[in-house]
Amino acid sequence: MALIVQKYGGTVAGSPKRIRDIAERVIATQEMGYQVVVVMSAMEGETDRLLGLAKSMAGTPDGREQDVLLSAGEQVSVAMLALAIKGMGYKVRSWLGHQIRILTDNDFGRARIIQVGSEDLKRSLKRGDIAVVAGFQGIDRDGNITTLGRGGSDTTAVALASALKAEFCEIYTQVDGIYTADPKLCPRAKKLDRVSYEEMMEMISLGVGAMHINAVDLAMKGNVPLHLRSGFTPWEGTKVIKEEKDSDVVVSRVTSDRNQARITITRVPDKPGLAAKIFTPLVKANIIVDMIVQTNSEKGTYTDVSFTVPKDGYEKAESLIKEIIPKIDSGGVSCDPEIAKVSIIGRGMRTRTGIAAKMFQVLANEGINIEMISTSEITISVVVREKYASKVVRVLHDAFIEKQGNL
Ligand code: ASP
Ligand code: MG
Repeated sequence: MALIVQKYGGTVAGSPKRIRDIAERVIATQEMGYQVVVVMSAMEGETDRLLGLAKSMAGTPDGREQDVLLSAGEQVSVAMLALAIKGMGYKVRSWLGHQIRILTDNDFGRARIIQVGSEDLKRSLKRGDIAVVAGFQGIDRDGNITTLGRGGSDTTAVALASALKAEFCEIYTQVDGIYTADPKLCPRAKKLDRVSYEEMMEMISLGVGAMHINAVDLAMKGNVPLHLRSGFTPWEGTKVIKEEKDSDVVVSRVTSDRNQARITITRVPDKPGLAAKIFTPLVKANIIVDMIVQTNSEKGTYTDVSFTVPKDGYEKAESLIKEIIPKIDSGGVSCDPEIAKVSIIGRGMRTRTGIAAKMFQVLANEGINIEMISTSEITISVVVREKYASKVVRVLHDAFIEKQGNL
C-alpha cells in the first residue's frame, strides 16, 4: 500500500479550527487509499512563546532543559490533531519523538537525526491507524529530549518519508508553491510545477523561504520526492524532484536579496595569508560572508578586497575590519549598504553557454551598472544599486522566463 507523509506548518495548524481542517484533509488522503503519516509543527507562534518562557527563567537557558520546554509545542499539536481525527470516527495514534525513537546526537537546540525507528509505526499503520508524529523533536542515546533547530519539523518529515519509502512527502504551508519570481515584484511570475533538489537548495540559500534547507538536502540524498503546497487550498503546488536529464528549462527563478551590504578594503598588501587574516575574525563573529571579489591594483603590490555581508551585520563587520586594518597595513575600509543581489537560477545552465553574457546584455540595455558578479553551476548573481533591484528582477524575468526559448 502506498504511503504518504504530510507535514503541516505552524500557520496551517494555527488554531483549533485549522487543526480540524487538517484532520479532514488527512482523512480524505487515507480514503484515497494511502497509509498516512502526518508530521505536525507547533501551533503558530508557540515555539517563540516557549522560547520567551525559557528566557524569562534564565538569561542563558540550559540547552537540555530548554529542549524539554520547546518540544512541548509539538506535543500539544499532535494530541489536538489525533483528538480531532478520533472524534471524526477514524483510527489514529499520536507519536512523540521518543516513542518512535527518532535518535539524534546530543547537540541540544540543533540536534541532527541519526536514525529513525520505524517498526512500531509500520505495525500501527498496517492496523489502519493514521500516524500523527511530533516534528522537531528527538531523543539522544542517553534518553534526553532534543530539538532539531527552528523549522526542524521539515527534517522530521523527510527523515520519516525516507525511512518508510513514502511515495511523496507533502509540505503544507501558507504559500501555494514556488514561483518564477516573487509575485509582489513581478506580477507575471508563474508557479513552477517542478524544480530539482539543487535548484530548491540554491533558491533557499538565496532567500526564497520555502522549507528548511537541510530537509531538502536529506530528501535529495534519500531521493524522497517533495511536494510544497498550500494548506488552505486543494490545488497542486511545486514538486521538488530529481533532475530530469533532458530539461529545457534554462532559468527557473529570478530572485533578489536586498539584505546585503558591501564592504571594501582598499590597498591590501598582495601577500599570502592576508585573506585569512581578514575573514577569520568575521567567521568567528558568525558573520556570513557571501560574494568576495579581489581586484589587482598598482602592479600586483596591492589589491582591493570587496565582499558582501547581511545588512544587519555590516556595522559589526566594519568595526572588526577597522581593528584589523592597522595590523595588515592596508589603506582603509568603506561600507555600502545600498546594494542588492539579483540572481538567476536554473538547472539548464549546466549545459548551455551564453547565459551570463545574455544577462549582462539585458542589464546593459537598461543602463544598469553591474557592481559585482558571482557564478556557480546553476546560478549567476550580480550586485546592483538597491533602488534598481525590482526593475532588474522584472527585466530578467521578461528576458529569461517570459520569452523563454529565445536563447
Ligand atoms: N515549531 C518549530 C519552529 O517553530 C519547528 C517547526 O515549526 O518546524 O521552529
Ligand atoms: Mg514553525
